[in-house]
Amino acid sequence: MLEARKIRLVMELRQQGITDQAVLSAIEKVPRESFVPESFHDQAYENTALPIGHGQTISQPSVVGFMTQALEIGPRMKILEVGTGCGYQAAVLAGLCRRVYSIERFRELLREAEKRLLDLRVNNVTTKWGDGASGWPEQAPFDRMILTAAATEVPQELLDQMSENGIIIAPVGETSREQTLIRMRHMPDNTWEKEELWPVRFVPMLDGKVGDNSEQ
Ligand code: SAH
Repeated sequence: MLEARKIRLVMELRQQGITDQAVLSAIEKVPRESFVPESFHDQAYENTALPIGHGQTISQPSVVGFMTQALEIGPRMKILEVGTGCGYQAAVLAGLCRRVYSIERFRELLREAEKRLLDLRVNNVTTKWGDGASGWPEQAPFDRMILTAAATEVPQELLDQMSENGIIIAPVGETSREQTLIRMRHMPDNTWEKEELWPVRFVPMLDGKVGDNSEQ
């Protein structure tokens, strides 16, 4: 039942313009139902965002697909994700690259995501509880970076952690309303080439981390 819905979703994504076969098979290999609460299992293969608790959402499959495709991922790459959430985007990326480093500010969400990834034997995702705006300097440079929470601009600290020819995909704009998905390429002369891709709507990137003694 879910398998048939999954195949239908993948076909829909292809029709919408996600034509990279490697991206489509990476999506097909990840059981999205494992990343949503039990009560949403039957909606796991609808092309919609769904709530995952703490006021956060799992991204819409077509958004995951378009962002992943726009990253032009190679199998040896190191990718940084800001905003692990339920871990779904990280699991998709993990199927395409060498290692994903993913940062989440909600400790509880991160714990749940780590458990899911472990259960699914996705073993090339390394996670960190923290404020993703500072990136992960110890693991830099990154070949690719994906922000899955909206910022008014991509923080300089993140730009500084990118390798030459690196690509960043990020929703940028007024945080609570619609944002624009932008793609930035790190050029050999250390400048950034910026393209605006499509309008998107993401939850805002917030300061600091939440959990244990610092519960909000
Ligand atoms: N990548 C997810 C979607 C994430 S939703 C998926 O695969 O579906 C955005 C996530 O970013 C939320 O979990 C939110 O808590 C987190 N977030 C917001 N600001 C952050 C920050 N500064 N650092 C790290 N995570 C952040």
